[in-house]
Parts: sequence; structure tokens; C-alpha cells
Amino acid sequence: MKKVVIIGGMAAGCKTAARLRRLEPDTEIVIVEKLPFVSFGACGMPFFASGEVESFDDLMSTAWGTVRTPEFFHNAKNVKVLTETTCTKIVPEHNFVEIVDKFGKKSILSYDFLVVATGSKPIEPPFSYPQSERISFFHSPTDAKKFRQLAEQGKISNATIIGGGFVGCELAEAVTSLWGIDVTLIEKENCLLSRSFDPEISNVLYSLFQSNGINVLVNTIVNQIEQKNDTLIVHTSKGNIETDYVFLTLGVKPNVELAEKSGITLGACGGIYVDETLRTNFENLFAAGDCIEINNLVTHKKDVFALGSLANRQGRVVADNIAGLASTFKGAVGSISLKVFDTIFASTGISTSCCYKDSISFSFACASFYDRPHYYPEAKVLFAKALYEKESGRLLGLQMCGKGEVTRYVDIFTVLLERGATYKDLLDVEHCYTPPHSSPLNPLNYLGGIIENQERFGITPVSSVEFEKYRKEWNIVDLRKENEIKEMPLDCEFIHIDYDNWRNEIQKLDLGSRILCVCQKGPRSVEIAIALKHLGAKKVGYLAGGLQMLNSAL
Ligand SMILES: Cc1cc2nc3c(=O)[nH]c(=O)nc-3n(C[C@H](O)[C@H](O)[C@H](O)COP(=O)(O)OP(=O)(O)OC[C@H]3O[C@@H](n4cnc5c(N)ncnc54)[C@H](O)[C@@H]3O)c2cc1C
Repeated sequence: MKKVVIIGGMAAGCKTAARLRRLEPDTEIVIVEKLPFVSFGACGMPFFASGEVESFDDLMSTAWGTVRTPEFFHNAKNVKVLTETTCTKIVPEHNFVEIVDKFGKKSILSYDFLVVATGSKPIEPPFSYPQSERISFFHSPTDAKKFRQLAEQGKISNATIIGGGFVGCELAEAVTSLWGIDVTLIEKENCLLSRSFDPEISNVLYSLFQSNGINVLVNTIVNQIEQKNDTLIVHTSKGNIETDYVFLTLGVKPNVELAEKSGITLGACGGIYVDETLRTNFENLFAAGDCIEINNLVTHKKDVFALGSLANRQGRVVADNIAGLASTFKGAVGSISLKVFDTIFASTGISTSCCYKDSISFSFACASFYDRPHYYPEAKVLFAKALYEKESGRLLGLQMCGKGEVTRYVDIFTVLLERGATYKDLLDVEHCYTPPHSSPLNPLNYLGGIIENQERFGITPVSSVEFEKYRKEWNIVDLRKENEIKEMPLDCEFIHIDYDNWRNEIQKLDLGSRILCVCQKGPRSVEIAIALKHLGAKKVGYLAGGLQMLNSAL
């Protein structure tokens, strides 16, 4: 009988086991997991920490309420799960692994196929910190349980989160909203979620945190954490912070020590190197999930993505290949979303910082628009920034935020990225339209139109973060109505031309000067910028996303 051993009993490992069982009823499947849990939803941890998910068991339950224990795996799936058991060595040349259980008892498991699904591990901070009950990562169930217990006992009145990636940001809301704990969120880069979002979108997150009482410190380096009795002192480049609890959320990296010392080849990004069948350098040894590196379908380089969505799909591919079905995992573009208070943030593909890092020549478009017709009572404003390759027009990434339909369009964009589409393809995206749900032109059609106009008429997009520089050097033309200007004043010198009457007022402008059109959301500016180009203006730009985006006013 074929025997398959899987190291790691979470997303990738359990998906492999479940799919393989469907394909091969008789294969012996053993999962080795060092934690006391199996198949647990780490992505739900922030919501358990916040108290929104009441019981920890809910994160380990099937949709019909059964907790996925080793007994469940045995009875329902005929899969043997060894929890609190660590795999300490892989001997690929002889097809066996060494394991040790919670009592320290060592044994050997032989296999025909081995799957390494050891996940990721938190990045250790570069600064010194004491071993303390009150300092923790937020990676394992134990971290979440420990915090929740202390919060329930009212033992934490303020907390500091070091690292403004997506776990740090989700946690900031979780800790604040239900427990009323004062939170300081520290990030060393100039904006939160800097891998996925540019400052234009990330600034909205910053404002959202500030308005909900979360103290956000960007461009701030932590140098050390000290403990004095029950108080922790976080030493930063902007001063010291006294706090009751510290979360270290500096990101994760592939957990590959076991693989590496067993002769499994690693790639340049530090993950296990696999081919498209997710096979390692050993024929009968596969790897999946956070521990591997895969093709980034936008940069065409290897990359590591710690995402549960990918880990699950990879588990299925591994099972198919073990069962002899030809199945491949081509790569990913890196799509993430998160909800912070009432606002959704989502991103797919690469951001500006990645373009610079990979020397990709790019341009962008920003827009703010309603997710359904403005007259419909529930219409919500969305902000978007799309990046595309300058020469070819190939799409590179999309970032969006708002209280309405965000992920729907980011998901469609993901498919376009995977297919190497250009901005012209955005104009062809068909969608369901009815006013309670959407506008006649969807955000992607709209972005496609803006980019096409920019490129066709040679108009310069100026993003909200570049505005400060431009307003000193270009003539600013505000195209809004008087009442709009009163409601959201423009804090610089400008020429006022009411869009509704622009044909009669255009003589106010010197077409030989550099002209930057601004309006509330962007469309009026683009239209007048095009008109000015037709009239012979040499250098025309528009404030992309309008003043609404400049003011992060969702
Ligand atoms: C707080 C949080 C929120 C997240 N939110 C999202 C989200 O919203 N969306 C999203 O897509 N992703 C999210 N993720 C990421 C997602 O959880 C991971 O991508 C996913 O869990 C990866 O699955 P995996 O099976 O590869 O690894 P893991 O889930 O890390 O599982 C690996 C398992 O291997 C075990 N193991 C390791 N070494 C050994 C050994 N030597 N012997 C035995 N067992 C071993 C570990 O104990 C671990 O349980 C989140 C992660 C966290 C921590």
C-alpha cells in the first residue's frame, strides 16, 4: 500500500491529505504536527483575539460544527494525525523521517511520498528584548490565546504593536475595538502595509486608525525593549513608550531549517525550491504552502507569499501529482485584502516600491469614484491606484479601498494580471449592472479609460503624494463649484474656473504655462486637461483621485 507522510497539519498539509483521500481511498496518510491542534484557521486569529469569534474551537470547526480533531480526521477521513509530534530529520535518500512525540519518544516513519508543509515563522526583531509573558508574536494559536486571556482578565490597558504589515494592522483594530485597549502601532517604513500599498491608499488607513484613537508612528525605528516590573519600555527613534503588552509582527519567513539540513534545495528567496508540480529536488518529495517559493507572475521572478489562499490550492496540486494526475501551480500575483473597522483594503500585483526595486518602468492612474450611481442612497466612495508598465501597457497592480465593493474588482484585476493583460483590456471588463449594486461603467472600465486618456493625450497624472511638489511649480486650476471649495478648501494659490462654465472662462489660462487641473474626484480635471491639450497647451496634468483622495476623505 502507498504511504504518504505530511509534515505540518495546517492549510497546505491538511488540504493535501483531504484531496489525496478523495483520489485514493486506500493510501495510508499520516500527518505529523508539532502543535496540539490540527487544521486550524490562522487567518481567523485576529477575530478570536478581538472576541468577535467567541470560541477558539470555531477556528478549527467544519462548516457543520464538528471540531477537526485527530479523531475526526481518523473517523471521517481515515487520515492518521500525530499532534504534539515534531519531525526532527528527513532522510530523503532512504525515504524515512525521524519524529519525536511530546514525551520525548523517538521513532521513524517510512514513506513512498513525503510532503513538507512546515509553513512560515515570525521574523525575529533586530533589537534586543527580554523574555517576557507580555511580549509575543502573533503567529500561533498560543499567542492569540495568551493575549485573549489577559485581555479578558482586564490586565492590559495599553498595547504596542511593532510592525505595520497586514497582521499588525488587523491586530491593531482587534485589540482596540472590543477590549478598549489603547494601541500604538509602530512601522519603520513611511507608510503602513508598504509591501502592498502605496502612500495614496495607505494614508487612508493611517487616517482611519488615527480617527479611531490608534496612535500610529511611521518612519519609526525600535531600538530596544526593556522591562521594569510589569511595565515594558519600548525605546524608539521617536522616544520611549511605556506599555503593558508588546506584539512583534515584523512579518514572516519560510520555515525551512528541517528541509535545508536534509538536503532539500532552497531558492534565492529562502523558500524551498519547487517546480510547477511542487516537486522538490527529490522525485518523491513535494512541498507546499508558506515554506516554498513560487513564480511571481508579474515580476517573473521567484517570490515568497505567505497566504492561506495559495497554501490551500497548492495542497490540491501536490495531492494530484502524488496520485499521478498531471497538475501544476504556475505562480501567483499576491492578492491580499483586509477589513479595518468599516473599510476594506485590497491589493493585487506589485506596488510602486516593488517597481523601483525591480527596475520596472511604470506609470499609474488614481481615481476616486462611487461604487454605484451617486444618486443611489447606499453609494460608497472608493479609491483606487493602478500601475502599468510604461512601454507595453501591461498591468502591474491595483490597490483599492473603501466601504463598498472593493474586493470584487481587485479579484477581477488579479485574473487580468495572471493573463498578462494590458490597460486596454480594462475597458473590456464586463460586469452585472443595476443601480443598487454597481454603476454602468465599473471601476476597472473607468481606470482603463483614464489611462487610455493619459497615454493618448499626453496628460501627466499627479498623485496626492506628489501634489505638494507640483503646487509650487505648476499653475493650479480648481474646477469645482464655489460650495465645494468652501467645504474642502484648497490650501494654495489657484485659478478658479467653474467646470460648468469653463468654455467662457478658459481665457484666464496661459496655455504656455504648466497647468495642473484639480477637482473633487478627478473626472472634471481629466476632461479639461484633454480640452486644454486640444487648445494647444504644452504641459497639462491632473490631480489623480482628486482632492477627495488628497484629503483621504472616504
Ligand atoms: C494572524 C494571521 C492572519 C492571517 N490572515 C490571512 C488572511 O487573511 N488571508 C490569507 O490568505 N492568509 C492569511 N494568513 C496566512 C495564512 O495563515 C498562511 O498562509 C497559511 O496558514 C499557510 O499554511 P501552511 O500550511 O503553509 O503553514 P502553517 O499554517 O504555518 O502550518 C505549518 C504547520 O507546520 C507545523 N510544523 C512546522 N515544522 C514542523 C515540524 N518539524 N514537525 C511537525 N510540524 C511542524 C507548524 O506547527 C504549523 O502548524 C494569516 C496568518 C496569520 C498568522
